[in-house]
Amino acid sequence: MKTIDSLIRNTISNRNALKETERDRRILSIYEKYPDLRRIDSDISDIRRDTLMKLLDGEIGSEDYISSEERTLLEKRSKFIKDNCISADFDRVGVECEKCGDTGFIKKRGNIRTVCSCMKAELEKAYEEAGLGDFYSVKPSALDESQIKNSSNKRKTARERLDKVMADLLSGKDQSTIIYSDGSSTGKTFLAVCFTKIVINCGFSGAYIKTDDLMETTEDQLDDLRLCDFLVIDDFSGAQTKNYKVRYNLNRILETRILRNLFTLIVTCESPEEAVRDSDERIASKLSRLESI
Ligand SMILES: [Zn+2]
Repeated sequence: MKTIDSLIRNTISNRNALKETERDRRILSIYEKYPDLRRIDSDISDIRRDTLMKLLDGEIGSEDYISSEERTLLEKRSKFIKDNCISADFDRVGVECEKCGDTGFIKKRGNIRTVCSCMKAELEKAYEEAGLGDFYSVKPSALDESQIKNSSNKRKTARERLDKVMADLLSGKDQSTIIYSDGSSTGKTFLAVCFTKIVINCGFSGAYIKTDDLMETTEDQLDDLRLCDFLVIDDFSGAQTKNYKVRYNLNRILETRILRNLFTLIVTCESPEEAVRDSDERIASKLSRLESI
């Protein structure tokens, strides 16, 4: 699974390579137009090389040392650039996105960061990689618990618990595995998908999978499911664990995640008691020890 971090890193490295090519092209065209500037810059490079040698030989004590020769050349260079109306940063690599300074993330309070709008495509790709391809239209900004606070389902409790999970994740605290059990059509999947998206948008690795799909996971996918920061296992029912592949994969996933204190949300329409009763022995013994909402 390509995480949001790796997708952004990849884009930034491509972006930097392009920016450097662009800068080199710009320098070349300025030098062609102003050969005197090329000479000044070449002289400055020679002096800097000499200074570096002297520094390595111990003749100079400080890395900040600038010889009077270099100083004179730098002044000459500034004047030349100004007199010829050349852009002062023609030889620098520019910043494409002012908002994030080409880091891909916007710093929020403390250690909280969110993906910058210039990485929208990468974010969508990360959602897809996390198994959220079918939930393109689900927007975390549409989460509105005020509309359901009087209803009899557990959505409000689940929302509050997930808010706490999010806060714990941001402060690096250990996490646990939770069973979220509620009737059908109570917005469980919507809530779980929204939070998986929020987690990814904050730079963590998240994944979503329906229990049925555990029948055909590859080893690589299984590794992602075992090790990502935030995992949702949706549409769980105890009876599904009678299937060997589901049972085997789920057991491996839960074993690793419980041991490593990673957050897992098991979403089910069954009550926790039913889920335990109907599950295969090994899964049941794990489920029976979990917190449930
Ligand atoms: Zn940006």
